[in-house]
Amino acid sequence: MQGETSMMRPSTYAVFPDFWAERKAQGLCPVCGKIKKEFDKHMRVYCCFEHAQKYGECYKTWNVVRDDILKRDNNHCVKCGSTQALEIDHIEAFVNGGKYFDYNNLQTLCHKCHVRKTKQDLWKARNKGQMLLTCEAKP
Ligand SMILES: [Zn+2]
Ligand SMILES: [Zn+2]
Repeated sequence: MQGETSMMRPSTYAVFPDFWAERKAQGLCPVCGKIKKEFDKHMRVYCCFEHAQKYGECYKTWNVVRDDILKRDNNHCVKCGSTQALEIDHIEAFVNGGKYFDYNNLQTLCHKCHVRKTKQDLWKARNKGQMLLTCEAKP
């Protein structure tokens, strides 16, 4: 069972478009993918103030949305009813064209159900010929 380890794993899909996290990890501007050499003066993580703000706003927005969805779903996984290691899932995945902050496209899943669902989303994306960048997909 993966019980206690599941809380430790950062859920990259749940927070941002996957490629944002991926870019940030690579030292690129998460929002536009610029390399550090092209960053504005004094900018380290983001290429410019505007993108730093955009990232921050997205993060803030997500936290609010996340809380709302958890409340709406009564802090239960909608698939199995678990109350452990809850995460927010995009019913129609972002990579498959689903809206990121649309409440109708969001549901509460436990980590286990989320992993299973994400695998299905990845399959769907691959079958449509789309590339998906996630930390998990890295060799
Ligand atoms: Zn940028
Ligand atoms: Zn579940």
